[in-house]
Amino acid sequence: MDQMVDCEFCGTSVSGGSAFTCTYCKGTFCPAHRLPFNHACPNIAEWRNANPGKQKVLSRKPESRIMADQKSLIAGGVLMLFLIILFVWIFRIV
Ligand SMILES: [Zn+2]
Ligand SMILES: [Zn+2]
Repeated sequence: MDQMVDCEFCGTSVSGGSAFTCTYCKGTFCPAHRLPFNHACPNIAEWRNANPGKQKVLSRKPESRIMADQKSLIAGGVLMLFLIILFVWIFRIV
């Protein structure tokens, strides 16, 4: 039932369930090479025309990245504070 198929780009054997078929060249690929630009798809131009928005997703705005960094910094600070409180609480018990 779960037969193995080889990725046409790298040759990795993947189970039929996790193999991907390219809509544009009908090739079979592993999860890492399923996207047209990952397997040097001969019909990549067709894919680009069909997905104009995908090219923009790759280049994130620097402002949003700084915001994300600040958020993770705050999250890290809260976690540290929680650990300190936890340590103080443990040492008072013992
Ligand atoms: Zn592959
Ligand atoms: Zn393809």
